Amino acid sequence: MKITVEIPVVAEYAARECSYNAGRACHAKAITIGQGVHPGCDTFLHMSTPARERQRRAGVGACKVIACRFNDDLECGANAISVGGAVRAISCLTFVPRL
Ligand code: SF4
Repeated sequence: MKITVEIPVVAEYAARECSYNAGRACHAKAITIGQGVHPGCDTFLHMSTPARERQRRAGVGACKVIACRFNDDLECGANAISVGGAVRAISCLTFVPRL
């Protein structure tokens, strides 16, 4: 059985070292954002062999950062997100802290 859900797209993925990255796009089915309070990409994976999938665009499956203004019930409510940053801190760049 397959399901279809609407989730925010990962519009830009600048983590070149990630095995899911090709052409500045993430090709995982869905990523998870958040390691507690930090909006890091939990799906980031650095392996010598990259993932073969190159057509699919990733979505945000879950986000554990409740401190973000876009977070609603542990899911992302933004239309799209960008992911990037330093290799040891690949993060959601769309994060906006709640006031
Ligand atoms: S924009 Fe906010 S809620 Fe959406 S994935 Fe990024 S940190 Fe999570």
